[in-house]
Amino acid sequence: MIALGELMREPSPSGRFGEYGGRFVPESLVPACEELDKAFHEAWGDPPFREELDFLLRTYSGRPTPVTECRRLSEMLDIRLLLKREDLNHTGSHKLNNVIGQALLARRMGKSRLVAETGAGQHGVATATAAALFGMECAVYMGAVDVERQALNVFRMKLLGATVHTVESGSRTLKDAINEALREWVGTVETTHYCIGSVMGPHPYPFVVRELQRVVGDEARGQCREILKGDPDVVVACVGGGSNAAGTFAGFVDSGARLIGVEAAGGAAMGHGIPGVVHGMRSKFIQDEAGQILEAHSISAGLDYPGVGPEHAQLGDAGRAEYFEASDDEVLAAFKLLAETEGIIPALEPAHGLAWIVREAGRGIPRGSAVLLTMSGRGDKDVALVMEKMGENS
Ligand SMILES: *Cc1c(COP(=O)(O)O)cnc(C)c1O
Repeated sequence: MIALGELMREPSPSGRFGEYGGRFVPESLVPACEELDKAFHEAWGDPPFREELDFLLRTYSGRPTPVTECRRLSEMLDIRLLLKREDLNHTGSHKLNNVIGQALLARRMGKSRLVAETGAGQHGVATATAAALFGMECAVYMGAVDVERQALNVFRMKLLGATVHTVESGSRTLKDAINEALREWVGTVETTHYCIGSVMGPHPYPFVVRELQRVVGDEARGQCREILKGDPDVVVACVGGGSNAAGTFAGFVDSGARLIGVEAAGGAAMGHGIPGVVHGMRSKFIQDEAGQILEAHSISAGLDYPGVGPEHAQLGDAGRAEYFEASDDEVLAAFKLLAETEGIIPALEPAHGLAWIVREAGRGIPRGSAVLLTMSGRGDKDVALVMEKMGENS
C-alpha cells in the first residue's frame, strides 16, 4: 500500500502510478516518448520556460481564473459552495492550460506540427487554437459519428487553420480517433508532437498533463485560503479522462480535504472499470466479459471516454480520492439550478460534479461544509442540446 504522502508525486521511471500507467506503445514511438519526458523535465525546471508559459496563460488565456462564492445556491444547499472558474479561460475550459504547455514543449523539441484526437471537439479546438498562436500545422482526428454530432466544432477547427481527419474505423468515436492519431504519429514522429488531451496515454503524458493542469489546484488552494481562511472540506471535479480533476486534486492532495471525482453514469471507468491496457497505458476501462472496450454514453460528450487516467486508478485504490457517478437527469437538473441561482451556465461536464453536491448536501456533505467545485467549462456549447432534452421532458 502506498503512503498517502507519496501520492501525486512523480511516477516511477517507467511511468507507473502503483500498478497503473506505464508505456505500451510500438517500438517506433519509444524514442519520442523518451524525448518528451526529457524535454518536459528540463523545461519544467527552466525558469524562462515557466515564465513564458505563465505569461501566455495570463495574457492569452486569462489566468488566474477567479474563485466565485455561490451566495444563493450555498444558502439553498446549506453549505458554502465555491467555484473555480476554468469556464472563464479562452476557448471556454481548462483545456488550454494543457495545450499551451504542450505546444511550447513541441516548439522546444523543434517540432512544427501538432496532431490531436478529439471526441466532442473541445480538445481539437484548443489544439487548433494553440497551433494558430504558434504558427504550427495542426491535424485533428475525430470519429465520423462525432464529426456529424459536433459540426460547429469541426468548423471552428477549420477556421483556426487545422485539418480535420474523419475516422471511419471501429465505433467511429473517440477511442477510434485516439488509435488513428497514435498511428499517424508513428509515421510522422520526426516533425510532429502528439498533443494528448487528458491525463492518459503512454508515459510521460499522464504526468505531463497533470503538471500542466496543476495551476488549477495551486491557484484554487491560495484563493480558498483567502476566502475561507483555510482549506475547503470537500474538493469536487468531474472526471472524463481526468485532467481537470487531476490538476485540481494536485493542489489539495496534501490537505485534509476530501477529494471527489464525479463520472458520467454511462462511462464510469472508476465505478465499473476493469484494469486493462489500452491507448498506451494500464488503467481502468469499462469492458464487456470478453474484454472488448465498451462505448461510453452520457449527455456530455466530454465525459464519453471509456477509461480514466492511470493516476486516478491509483488514487482510488489508495482511498485518497473517491469516485461517484451522476445520471443524465441529475446533471440536467444541476445545469438548470446553477443557471437560475447564480447566473452561470455550466458545461454539462462540471454539472456532474454539481449534481453530486446537490445529492449529498446535508447527507454525505455535512451542513456548513466548505465545498470547492472546479467549473471546468462554460455551457454555451451545450445549450442547444439541453434545449432539446428539456423540450422532451416538458
Ligand atoms: C474535456 C472536458 C472535460 C473532460 O476532460 P478531463 O480530462 O476529465 O478534465 C471536462 N470538462 C470540460 C468542460 C471539458 O471540456
